[in-house]
Amino acid sequence: MSSTDRRETRSCVSCGINIAGTNAASFKCPDCGAQIYRCAKCRKQSNLYECPDCGFLGP
Ligand SMILES: [Zn+2]
Ligand SMILES: [Zn+2]
Repeated sequence: MSSTDRRETRSCVSCGINIAGTNAASFKCPDCGAQIYRCAKCRKQSNLYECPDCGFLGP
């Protein structure tokens, strides 16, 4: 019904761009299990990611 679903918003945890519809990787935080998304660019550059939930830093 509604086209505004905030829960469907996906953004790269490293650079913050909206990665909806892109070739982004998604995985779960090894610490708290929160869903994390990272764009292909940051994945290629092996940027660090930080879990928005618990602050876990990972490669
Ligand atoms: Zn990114
Ligand atoms: Zn976490």
